[in-house]
Amino acid sequence: MADIIQLLPDSVANQIAAGEVILRPASAVKELLENAIDAGASEINLIIKDAGKTMIQVVDNGGGMSERDARMSFERHATSKIRQANDLFAIRTLGFRGEALASIAAIAQVEMKTRRHEDELGTIVEVEGSRVKNQDNCSCPAGTSIQVKNLFFNVPARRSFLKAESAELKHIVDEFFRVALVYNEVRFTFHQNQKLLYQLLPGNRKQRIISLFGSGYNERLVPVEQISEAISITGFIGKPEFARKTRGEQFFFVNGRYIRHPYLHHSIESAYRELIPAESIPSYFIYIDTDPGTIDINIHPTKTEVNFLDSKVIYAVIRSAVRQSLGLNNILDRIDFDVERSLDFSPAPGNRPIRNPFDVHPTDFNPFNQSDPGKKTTGETRLKPSLKGWESLYDNNDFKVIPAAPQSDGMFSETEFQPESQEKDRINVFQFQNRYIISSIKSGLVLIDQQRAHERILYEQYLDRIQHQQQAVQQELFPIQVSFSPSDAGLLEDIMNELKVIGFHLNKLGKNTFVVTGTPADLQETDIQALLENFLDKYKKNLVELNLDKSTNLARSLAFSLSARSGRRLYIEEMTHLIDELFSCQAPELTPEGRKVFTVIPLDQIHQLLNR
Ligand code: ADP
Ligand code: MG
Repeated sequence: MADIIQLLPDSVANQIAAGEVILRPASAVKELLENAIDAGASEINLIIKDAGKTMIQVVDNGGGMSERDARMSFERHATSKIRQANDLFAIRTLGFRGEALASIAAIAQVEMKTRRHEDELGTIVEVEGSRVKNQDNCSCPAGTSIQVKNLFFNVPARRSFLKAESAELKHIVDEFFRVALVYNEVRFTFHQNQKLLYQLLPGNRKQRIISLFGSGYNERLVPVEQISEAISITGFIGKPEFARKTRGEQFFFVNGRYIRHPYLHHSIESAYRELIPAESIPSYFIYIDTDPGTIDINIHPTKTEVNFLDSKVIYAVIRSAVRQSLGLNNILDRIDFDVERSLDFSPAPGNRPIRNPFDVHPTDFNPFNQSDPGKKTTGETRLKPSLKGWESLYDNNDFKVIPAAPQSDGMFSETEFQPESQEKDRINVFQFQNRYIISSIKSGLVLIDQQRAHERILYEQYLDRIQHQQQAVQQELFPIQVSFSPSDAGLLEDIMNELKVIGFHLNKLGKNTFVVTGTPADLQETDIQALLENFLDKYKKNLVELNLDKSTNLARSLAFSLSARSGRRLYIEEMTHLIDELFSCQAPELTPEGRKVFTVIPLDQIHQLLNR
């Protein structure tokens, strides 16, 4: 049999390599921006059409290329940035693998115009699917312009995997941010479909962060600085009160390069522990500068992962830098450590009788009313789990009361908890850890996660309202002004009508500013700016990761950000209402994201626990 192994033609090899480096339009944007930075540009203009699917162009005023280099730059493993293996450990540039341009040219139509400052004439090179179509002299500004059209034109499978335009745009914005956040001395513009999305002037890092994320960030951030000979950690972290439930503003940069690093992320999270709710994530912009010999960035083609020679040391340094910064700014001191009070198992105060543990449900005992244990403040409200056959779960004959009315803390008057009538049926709900609701049913105990239950209820309500254009009850507000980054403002404008149906009345005021004149009647949160940001974060994340349709995404994101956080103490009436509503839902078992809302602990399991 004849030999069968052959070397692949370059064009095929390039196309295979492109599969690793260029996953979507945003990857091409990243590579082009990085090349412009490496070329020493002080001004970079990014222009895209249709979220990069039709066209991506990056224009820089950097060093430019000679005629020969312009042609060479499209060859695989062609780079001006390293010459020998050893150079890999002294990398100061963003690129070094010499495969980005070759990869892009393998799967798109590329036109490059470039001129060095010292040359009079520039060069134009046109490449399509790795084939050079044209190379000529041309007159063009000093620097380089690379235009990439019809990405994946010859890889239809890849093209069909691209997500909705808004999702691809979000990826591009992310890449743009990751470069712009480091190179604050560089002037940037970013246009999509001839609309200016961002214009960034040279400035310091904080100014850059603010021009990307909005002026609200001025007061949200505190600086971090820890500089030693071996490593320097600088940047900004968010004050704990601004931590959000979703990711999005977590940035690590190593020697000017954005990286992902779950281990270092953990070091920051651990520094914030006890300062923010467990499900929140702090914002951070951390710039690590270190000897390139102590890191390996050549472990992944997209260069977003880095191995540190000694990551444990860096972990500790970052953690202490963040702790110090939180302390220095008096944040630690201001925190009022709010201890869980919903279930107080501490020994009874001196004059309070210790109760027989088997006599667990005296109707006059309010565990929160410690100042006056004998006073009757507890309500007995009928629990009416409704609809869909859930009634049968409940054992109506044997309801006992475990009251969970909040102690009077000045915010509520005690009379609010007085039962309307002592004749009402007994109920048996119980709040645990300010987080779970426990209720007795025929077959055992049902354990409900209050936040998830609320999320499920709101989701179904909102979706219903949006789909049926059913105007929600709304409360008037003293007009509140809120402002956002340009891309968030655009997004919000897009969904203003749907938000109105749910009860949020927004009017556009300025370019990135809105006035809120009404919110849903049952809204508890008062920080509308934070609430909308939280919601937008989730909305964007869902857009990118799940490709949800507008209504579903809206209902899901709003339900997520408006659901009462765990940690809130609930009145008995609130708990019974919540249970009622939950079990009237279409799908009470799971949150829209698929998390378990409740579980039943069967009676025989309970018997078994005590059986020996
Ligand atoms: P790498 O950046 O890893 O070297 P690329 O394929 O991205 O590989 O680019 C190949 C080479 O082309 C670079 O090393 C650089 O010399 C040149 N080059 C690419 N883009 C530019 C640009 N915008 N300005 C000047 N030179 C560029
Ligand atoms: Mg490059």
